[in-house]
Amino acid sequence: MIYLDHAATAPVPRAVADAMLEVLTEQYGNPSSQYPLGAGMKRRVEGWREAVAALMDCPAERLFFTSCGTEGDNWALRAAAWQNRHVGKHIVTTAVEHSAVLECCKWLERDGYEVTYVAPDRDGSIPAERVLEAVRPDTAVVSVMFVNNELGTRYPVKPIARGLPARNPKTLLHTDAVQGLGGMLSARELGADFVTVSAHKIGGPKGVGALYIAPRVKNPRPLLPGGGQERGLRAGTEATAQIAGFARAAELRLERRTEIQGHLAGLRAHALERLLGFPDLTVLGGVSSDTAPHILALSLAGWPSQNIVNDLGAQGICISAGSACHQGKPSHVVAALKLPKRVASGVIRLSFGPETTEAEIDACVQALRRHHDQRMPML
Ligand code: PLP
Repeated sequence: MIYLDHAATAPVPRAVADAMLEVLTEQYGNPSSQYPLGAGMKRRVEGWREAVAALMDCPAERLFFTSCGTEGDNWALRAAAWQNRHVGKHIVTTAVEHSAVLECCKWLERDGYEVTYVAPDRDGSIPAERVLEAVRPDTAVVSVMFVNNELGTRYPVKPIARGLPARNPKTLLHTDAVQGLGGMLSARELGADFVTVSAHKIGGPKGVGALYIAPRVKNPRPLLPGGGQERGLRAGTEATAQIAGFARAAELRLERRTEIQGHLAGLRAHALERLLGFPDLTVLGGVSSDTAPHILALSLAGWPSQNIVNDLGAQGICISAGSACHQGKPSHVVAALKLPKRVASGVIRLSFGPETTEAEIDACVQALRRHHDQRMPML
């Protein structure tokens, strides 16, 4: 099998699975229990928090484990809206956010919030000024993702954080950094008040994530009031095995981060080179624009993406027609680019991980070429 869908989820390395197994079978204590098995677990959870915080470059005491990226996004938006309930009921986000942010915004609209969805340019980019211009005296929250999961486009979160106080010093900034965790993410340097991440995009298990909340948010609104876990903000017995796996994956990534980023950039460049001169092909997100190295979005104009995905899937090659969360439905991200219909219908995403090889990319490009040559265009 050739797996080129790391933006959907990544394989779990043996070392991560082993760390989880040890916790499940031997170190199974509840961190809230008083005897050594429990107290030891509590200390280990704090150690694991430090490992994830090291990868994110943020203080561990401001990092809270969640059950996934979706949970972090929802918590951040609701906590920021609540914190700024006296500022107003306006939210600024982008039209290309993950549905974890967009669907939460829709719920906030039902609660009386007005949401401005900033549109991208055709290449997927969004200048910081466009976001800042949308900020008003009653804007409670701005939420702009760090890396787009369908296009790989990086968004200017740092310049937005720098420009925000001049527009409205009270407005809080959230960034969904789920697709940026493996890269050179530094929550400290980014300047966002909330940063969401998820383990399963970097080789950790599914079902665990984390939310960084900056010291400026003094008393964050709890997501789950209850037994006091996660400093009383996100109660529920800690998912110790998941957290252990997240921490191990974070350590492995941090050890080899620069090397992995270089490898991914090389793979992306290799794929682009192999695709050069490919008929009916459009590269989305721009060839030279600021794009994360693990994602390459393409369109085979006229060849419907679902057919391509099915055809390659039958040959054991896993790629995606945009985001894994939108299978079967037209993607809101592609729609926001306002591409010609033929281009929009043929969008596919290749995404790479540390284990991906150039030979796998070559095999995928060959399969795409066969698909193009043997099938009739639909549009
Ligand atoms: N945000 C982005 C940008 C994502 O790519 C994803 C997952 O695909 C999520 C949020 C949701 O993360 P999780 O699957 O952990 O809920």
